[in-house]
Amino acid sequence: MPFKRKSRGRSKGGKGSSSLVQCASCGSMVPRDKAKKNTRRVSFVEPQLAKELRQKGTYLSSWVDTKYYCISCAVHRGIVKVRAENERHTRYRRRR
Ligand SMILES: [Zn+2]
Repeated sequence: MPFKRKSRGRSKGGKGSSSLVQCASCGSMVPRDKAKKNTRRVSFVEPQLAKELRQKGTYLSSWVDTKYYCISCAVHRGIVKVRAENERHTRYRRRR
């Protein structure tokens, strides 16, 4: 059977089922290997203030905020984009 994507839209390979995670946006349960993981650094200090504090030598701790999104929410938020048909068979590259 021809596949729309090389990975069938998932990263599980040949293994069976995988655990579920909850989409951070709509709350639906999606398989962990299918969900899109979005990690970003969060800080409670405002960027302008943080810049000034850092200049004066303050150590500002920040932590990573990891969220999982289902495919439709990831597309809606621009984490992944709809790709051309011939591009879908290649591995997804992260755009920064
Ligand atoms: Zn969702």
